[in-house]
Amino acid sequence: MNKVYCCFPGGKHKVLTMSYDDGKQQDRRLVDIFNQNGIKGTFHLNSGIFHDPERIKPEEMPQLYAGHEVACHTVTHPTIARCPMPEVVSEVLDDRKALEAIMHYPVRGLSYPNGSLSQDIVDMLPHTGIRYSRVVGNTDGFELPEDPYRWMATCHHNHRLMELGEQFLSLHKQQYLYLMYVWGHSYEFDLMGNWQLMEDFCRMMGGKEDIWYCTNIQLMDCLDDFKRLQFAADNSFVYNPNARDCWIRVRNTDSVCTPAGQTISL
Ligand SMILES: [Zn+2]
Repeated sequence: MNKVYCCFPGGKHKVLTMSYDDGKQQDRRLVDIFNQNGIKGTFHLNSGIFHDPERIKPEEMPQLYAGHEVACHTVTHPTIARCPMPEVVSEVLDDRKALEAIMHYPVRGLSYPNGSLSQDIVDMLPHTGIRYSRVVGNTDGFELPEDPYRWMATCHHNHRLMELGEQFLSLHKQQYLYLMYVWGHSYEFDLMGNWQLMEDFCRMMGGKEDIWYCTNIQLMDCLDDFKRLQFAADNSFVYNPNARDCWIRVRNTDSVCTPAGQTISL
């Protein structure tokens, strides 16, 4: 029987994604660094605070964040574990609505404002169309999230960034999927005077053949697409019902593209 493994697009087994909160002016410089190196990020925004002069204005967003992901960070950035649940639902849904009106695609990501969450909130989020939410903290590791609604990054950019980046680059075991996930706030680079750190990191990580550069939601969608693949019981063929191509490894050697909407022999 064919042995089949899930792969990232292009048959890759490593993925890098970035996650930055609050949508302040410094996002411009950060996006520029990402773009220069082909790195993709997710920007978690508060639609109720756009009037703050420190924040990026809605009219600039479609162009600034093109190729990246805009995601929710609630409307007003409350510590939601302390709020009544109907208020939390509004904070998330109204943020989605406002961001979707600007970006014109379904906004399905979240990061918890002030890192605040509860089990009730985790249970509620799928019902609001949210597919993942990032928590605060560092795993110092390269695992895929066990619970996407408690998704912890590999590291904040001020926590062992270059060291973990070098470790990630050296990973080569094809039998595993590896994720490096970096989070922070772009204004922290001004506060710490350490833009050079992110410039060095992105230059080191960019343009690698075995790394897929994607947004947070693209990674979730890739994993969800794989779960929808319909394999013959003996893995001799597979039907891909998704609107996107999927990549798999067969017999531990070749990576194979299963084209959207098609059945192929393995
Ligand atoms: Zn925030």
